[in-house]
Amino acid sequence: MALLLGLQVHIGEQVESLSDLPQSHFQMVVDASGSSQSTNSLSCSLGFKYQSLSTKGVTLGVVAQFEKPRGTSMNDFNLAAHFKRGVFEDLKKQGLELENIVYFCGETHYFVMTPSIQCLKQNGVLRSESDCCDQLALQERVDPAAFEDFCRDVGDFFNLEQSCAFLPQNSGVFDFSLRRRSSEALKISVPSGKLDDPVLVCLCGDALIEPFWPEGLGINRGFLSALDCAWIAIKFDTRCGLFGEKVEELKAVSRCSFEELKRVSAFTSTAILHNTEKKGAYTADPMTRYRRIGHLS
Ligand SMILES: Cc1cc2nc3c(=O)[nH]c(=O)nc-3n(C[C@H](O)[C@H](O)[C@H](O)COP(=O)(O)OP(=O)(O)OC[C@H]3O[C@@H](n4cnc5c(N)ncnc54)[C@H](O)[C@@H]3O)c2cc1C
Repeated sequence: MALLLGLQVHIGEQVESLSDLPQSHFQMVVDASGSSQSTNSLSCSLGFKYQSLSTKGVTLGVVAQFEKPRGTSMNDFNLAAHFKRGVFEDLKKQGLELENIVYFCGETHYFVMTPSIQCLKQNGVLRSESDCCDQLALQERVDPAAFEDFCRDVGDFFNLEQSCAFLPQNSGVFDFSLRRRSSEALKISVPSGKLDDPVLVCLCGDALIEPFWPEGLGINRGFLSALDCAWIAIKFDTRCGLFGEKVEELKAVSRCSFEELKRVSAFTSTAILHNTEKKGAYTADPMTRYRRIGHLS
C-alpha cells in the first residue's frame, strides 16, 4: 500500500522535534507517538499542552499471560462489572474482586483486568501499605509468587487449562491512575531550526487522549481520532495556506470532533456515536460517526 501511494516509511526513527524529520518540506504532521509512559516528547515540543486526569486514589491494572499449547484456545471475551454483575460477584466470592477483564486468544492466553487494590493486598500480591504511582516502585512492591497464584486463580475461574504455563516476563501490574489529555487536537506549529514554514499538526491515539479502562476504553477512541486526522488531511487545502479562513474552519471541525471524542466511553457510546452495525458505516467524515456534528462537514 505504501508503495502504491508513493510513501516513504522510516522504521525505528526517534523524532523529538520536527527538525528530526528526514524531509524538510511538508505542511501537515500527524503525531501518534503514544502515551506519557512511552518515550514521547514530540507533542510537547510542538507546543501541545496537556491536562492530567487522575483517578480517585490509585488504579492498578494486571496483565496475565499464559503459554498457549495447541488445542487450548478459548473464545475472546470482554466483561465489565457494570454489565455482568453475576460473574463479578462469583469472582469476588473467590477473593478476586475485579472491575473488568478482557481475554484475548492470540499467540498466548492474554488476560488484562483491573482488580481493586484491596483485592491485590488480600491476595498478597502487593507487599506494602503505601500507595504509589511510580512504575518502578510498583514492581518492587509486587510479590512474584503471590502474583502468579492470583493470575492462575483468575485463569482457573475462566476455565484456562492448568497445562498452560504462566509467563512472568509477559505479565505484570501497572498503574494507570494518571492519564493525560491534550487540550487540543490540531495546532499550527511554527517550527524552529532548518524548517522555515509553519506546519499543521494533528494528534491521534494516546498522544491525544489516554484511555481509562474501567470506562470500557482502550484503543477505540484511538481509531476515532485517527479517522479525525484523516478527515483533516482530506479537507486541508494546501493552496490556501495555514492562516486563512479555511484553516479556521478546519480548526472548528477538529474542536467539535474532539469534544465528542472526549465524551465517548462504554456507557455513553450509543448516545454519542452512530450505530456501527452497518458494515462500512464509519468513514473519515466525522458526520458518519458522531451524532451531534451532522452539520459540520
Ligand atoms: C498493558 C496495556 C494493555 C492494554 N490492553 C488493551 C486492550 O486489551 N484493548 C485496548 O483497546 N487497549 C489496550 N490498551 C491501550 C492501548 O494499548 C493504547 O490505547 C494504544 O496502544 C494506543 O495506540 P497509539 O498508536 O496511540 O500509541 P502506541 O501504541 O503507544 O504507539 C506509539 C508509538 O510511537 C512510538 N514513539 C513514541 N515517541 C516517539 C518519538 N519521539 N519518535 C518516534 N516514535 C515514537 C512508540 O515507540 C510507539 O511505537 C492497553 C495498554 C496497556 C499499557
